[in-house]
Amino acid sequence: MQRTIQSELQEIKNRGLLRSTILINGRQAAKVTCNGHDVLLLCSNNYLGLADHPSLAAASIAAIQQYGTSSGASRLVSGTMALHEQLENAVVSFKKSESALLFNSGHAANTGIIPALVGRGDVVFSDRLNHASIVDGILLSGARLVRYPHNDHQQLARLMEKHASGRTLIVSDGVFSMDGDIAPLVELVTLKRNHGALLMVDDAHGSGVLGEQGRGSAELLGVGGEVDILMGTFGKALGSFGAYAAVSAELRELLINRARSFIFSTSLPPSVLAASLAAIQLVQSQEGDGLRDMLRANAHFFRRSLSEAGFKIPDGTTQIVPILIGSAVTTMQFSEALLAQGLFAQGIRPPTVPAGTSRLRFTLMATHSHADLIGAVEIIRQVGQALGVV
Ligand SMILES: *Cc1c(COP(=O)(O)O)cnc(C)c1O
Repeated sequence: MQRTIQSELQEIKNRGLLRSTILINGRQAAKVTCNGHDVLLLCSNNYLGLADHPSLAAASIAAIQQYGTSSGASRLVSGTMALHEQLENAVVSFKKSESALLFNSGHAANTGIIPALVGRGDVVFSDRLNHASIVDGILLSGARLVRYPHNDHQQLARLMEKHASGRTLIVSDGVFSMDGDIAPLVELVTLKRNHGALLMVDDAHGSGVLGEQGRGSAELLGVGGEVDILMGTFGKALGSFGAYAAVSAELRELLINRARSFIFSTSLPPSVLAASLAAIQLVQSQEGDGLRDMLRANAHFFRRSLSEAGFKIPDGTTQIVPILIGSAVTTMQFSEALLAQGLFAQGIRPPTVPAGTSRLRFTLMATHSHADLIGAVEIIRQVGQALGVV
């Protein structure tokens, strides 16, 4: 007998894994309105507050007036618009790469790029905690997937000795989205050189935030020019939407011809391109430096305070601050209790993270005030005690 939709939903519910969305009013600002109450937003990736920045909004409105609201088709069909080219040029100078290609989202980039590079007979070495869209890209490619323990480059070296065949790709998040730590990119570069492999880094959470002028995790670790495919997104710190791959001219040409999410999808619209362009300029400016300083200070304070309160926080230094809880059910009770007290933070459960590692994931923004964060830490401490987490 076929299982019913209802029984499938019931099973998800029974495991404490049912998901639903929460309606908020207003912008992705430090405070949002939720069920008629003001809550402190501690789960947005709008790290620098650019989703709410007047210069992005103004650029977007001007682009709509000049170019309209849609790009009309895939770029291979109705053409590259001037703004696509301008944004790719801006990515090239931001990332100091030879070339760049836009994608419609980070998910579309990963599911387009990986199958364009590898297929049957090839092998992909992937950090165990890489983002789901990387895993989707690998599965779609048909290449062999070899997962290595999180950030364990020594184990990766052993696995590469044993399993390398065909074209070999190493892929890693730059900043791990659910753990907030940074990949050992220097060691990954050495390994890719030794094995003649390609290295791809997904810097969705590092771009705009880390390194000089926000160039990202690879720049921070001094290997900006050594990563073959540097993927980044516009939807997080850059306050817009979409993604890019900073690559060689040769790889760009291959992606245009092989990446199905590029070929078979309508390209990004003018409003989005213009906001991204304004964001790239802003993150490289002095204002960007100031916002990064505020973000760093907020993240440092929050991390230290929760750690002093006794919570278990994975090693890390970034604006993503998870507290490990373990049980999915307790995690959701925790986030519900926080919401009732004016803090909006997401409980993260399987399949987003491995079973038994459910957590509350806080993300800091430059726009959080110090007073708000002090108040938040106190509430989190009280709820944590009530639930027996600390
Ligand atoms: C958010 C995220 C993506 C997906 O990017 P979107 O533009 O939101 O589709 C990809 N990789 C990582 C590491 C992410 O955190």
